[in-house]
Amino acid sequence: MRAAADTAWIEERAKTLGFDLCGVVRAEKFPELAQTEEWLARGYAGEMEYLSDARRSNPQNAMPGIRTVIVCALNYNTEQPKSTDVAATVEGDEPRGWISRYAWGSDYHVVVREKLDNLLAALRQNFEEPFEARVYADTGPVQERIFAKYAGLGWLGKNTLVLNQQMGSWFFLGTILTALDLTPTLGPTEAPPADLCGSCRRCIDACPTEALVEPYVMDARRCISYLTIELRGSIPEALREPMGRHVFGCDICQDVCPWNRRAPVTKEREFQPRVVPVKGDASPDGESFFLPRLEWLAGMNEVEYREAFRGSPIKRTKWRGLVRNALIALGNASVRRDTHAHTRISALLMRLAVSPDAAISESALWALSRIQ
Ligand code: SF4
Ligand code: SF4
Repeated sequence: MRAAADTAWIEERAKTLGFDLCGVVRAEKFPELAQTEEWLARGYAGEMEYLSDARRSNPQNAMPGIRTVIVCALNYNTEQPKSTDVAATVEGDEPRGWISRYAWGSDYHVVVREKLDNLLAALRQNFEEPFEARVYADTGPVQERIFAKYAGLGWLGKNTLVLNQQMGSWFFLGTILTALDLTPTLGPTEAPPADLCGSCRRCIDACPTEALVEPYVMDARRCISYLTIELRGSIPEALREPMGRHVFGCDICQDVCPWNRRAPVTKEREFQPRVVPVKGDASPDGESFFLPRLEWLAGMNEVEYREAFRGSPIKRTKWRGLVRNALIALGNASVRRDTHAHTRISALLMRLAVSPDAAISESALWALSRIQ
């Protein structure tokens, strides 16, 4: 096994390259990896078939010859207020939606990947012998959260996310799978960080769709992140109203978490909310990803969508998904009847009610029935 000094060097180097946390863990079949099978059997993954990939439940299948995993965390928390602190849908006459904090800026896959690539390049320079390695920024058949726990980065909270006592939960995880025989960050007698959720259950109680079906267990099919990003087709009717104004992801179970109350703010410019220029005079200063106007989102065509969300994680939901989500949010926006906004939004909904896309037309009709 390599000396502990090598692990310390890696952790230090990761921080020099911009990561906030880093730890090394042996590639073992940790108990939580086995629990995935039961979770899948309950159908909680919904349409996310990639989660059944057998490599996810055993790291030995993820890379032949794997010995250790280097886990890195990158803070994406910015200074903007929490979704639970920002007044509901209307500012003036403008109904606004909520995009999850992690998606306000540049695509984190690219930002995290670049830093991981730099770390791997540094490793290859430092360790002379060649070694097998794979880099994953939320893209590979690995359960980063579980490796993060055993690498000492935090505990798995009742909201199912990794929580760190100093940083809260606003961070991305990235991993380097390696064949290097590194000394793990936690010694043989050291346990992973203690679970500090205690008797708290704020996340469970605050979840509007009751997706946290029991502490530490999420039924993804009910989670707004799944509904707005992963689910194709129409949103189940019973979950539309609880979705509120969410158009891409949901931050509520993180916003209410006491460990995020004093979470540090990132210096990374890439994660600040984007403002994109748009044609027309509705928003001469451009449209912001922080509390975006729902009319802008619902009214854009595919070309405008591609233009606005180039290099953004929001492209994952695709144009029809984002329009569908904005329509549901408009249906929840309590637009006052005697306003210009009501007239404009009704016209927009009527136009989209005859869209050839079934999910869009059905969502527009639902929204119309709610605002009329
Ligand atoms: Fe519930 Fe939102 Fe958390 Fe999903 S992200 S579990 S919907 S609070
Ligand atoms: Fe744990 Fe409470 Fe945070 Fe939920 S809100 S993750 S129970 S500390």
